Amino acid sequence: MQTKKFFIKTHGCQMNEYDSEQMQKMIGAMEYNKTENIQEADIVIMNTCHIRDKATERMYSELGRMREIKEEREQRGDKTVIIVAGCVAQAEGEEVFRRAKFVDIVVGPESYHNLPAMINNTLQGKQKMINLKFSPEEKFDYLEQELVKNDNIIKPSAFVTIQEGCNKFCNFCVVPYTRGAEYSRKVEQILEDIYRLVENGTKEIIFLGQNVNAYHGIDSKGRQWSLAQLISKVSEIKAIERIRYTTSHPRDMTPDLIAIHGSEPKLMPLLNLPVQSGSNAILKAMNRKHSREEYIEIIHQLKTINPKIIFSSDFIVGYPGESDEDFEQTLDLIKQVKFSSQCFSFKYSPRPGTPAADKDQIPDKIASERLFILQNLLDNQRTEFNQSMINKKFKVLFDKIEMRYYDQLGGRNEFLQIVVVDNLSELQKNRLYGQICEVEITKVNNNSLTGEIYFI
Ligand code: SF4
Repeated sequence: MQTKKFFIKTHGCQMNEYDSEQMQKMIGAMEYNKTENIQEADIVIMNTCHIRDKATERMYSELGRMREIKEEREQRGDKTVIIVAGCVAQAEGEEVFRRAKFVDIVVGPESYHNLPAMINNTLQGKQKMINLKFSPEEKFDYLEQELVKNDNIIKPSAFVTIQEGCNKFCNFCVVPYTRGAEYSRKVEQILEDIYRLVENGTKEIIFLGQNVNAYHGIDSKGRQWSLAQLISKVSEIKAIERIRYTTSHPRDMTPDLIAIHGSEPKLMPLLNLPVQSGSNAILKAMNRKHSREEYIEIIHQLKTINPKIIFSSDFIVGYPGESDEDFEQTLDLIKQVKFSSQCFSFKYSPRPGTPAADKDQIPDKIASERLFILQNLLDNQRTEFNQSMINKKFKVLFDKIEMRYYDQLGGRNEFLQIVVVDNLSELQKNRLYGQICEVEITKVNNNSLTGEIYFI
């Protein structure tokens, strides 16, 4: 019998990547194999993101192509189930069926654990299945029971979602509407995930959440844990050598979390701390509820407690009302903090339904010029930091075996920089994959470092 296949396309952030991974496991458990060729897929999933400009229109245009494929397959007698998942699915809801009648299933990011049942119902003839419920607890219980325990893939570095959703309602952002209110997973549930990952060789855990440092999960005794407590607990697991977390909010950088950056060596010295703007007027307009001074003070405290720590951030330029002076304030903040790691910067683009969408918009030409200047400054800071790596030695966790050239192996150092080692045999690559080794940096490339193994 011919094996059934599924195709999945993921847009957007690490949370979506994580969700897609879970969906793949679910559909894999239904005995479908993954394919990279959409034409041969019996199930097609588009996991959408609402963060970028014109996400909705882009989704409908991509769906147009899927319609053609579905029709071609139908002519050959093959059925295709088309699924729209993720944040655009959540925001558009029934509208997806109205504009793309050939779509079979619409499922939100908090309800995708229902997909196996929805797919079975569709295959049995039910039409237009939709589930947009916010039920993160139910979702994680399902994932815990059904999926993670069957996951035997070796992952030297693994994401573990500990928190989802957001209560902060920044005026530009759709997340509180598409992902719902803040939800923190239970402590034991997270630890179970980590123990299973450790059994499969995981050495690095990256805690994931839209507001990961707002984590406040409870344990089986009903006690509430902070992110710092969770980090401390996980660092006791001998096999776990590295811990990271992303993405955080300045308002949730609590004293215990700041302190643990100085006391816990397993917590890596890189923090992504989105600021969005360096102008207090714009931060207020964005409803960020922190000031530029508070942000700089957090950075100062972290650097004092751990002089090695570096930062990355997110920036929005051309936010409604942003004057030249506001923009200068952002540049000034960047110069003060010095962001050494990859930052994310975008021109503001309105998201329907968010408060900032109805405000007077900054002309695109001005926003583009500002973005160019800001990205240039950030690139220079990152390049300068990368250049300073030459001849230094770092511990690298090798987690990328499929590289551009066959004799290469890739990994990450403590600052999350990609480090590539060349001239390795297949035997050496297999032996080093999943290990942490000392590597001496010999060359700085645009987006990576090249090095030689110094000590295994
Ligand atoms: S903190 Fe603001 S930007 Fe981040 S997810 Fe919440 S609303 Fe969006």
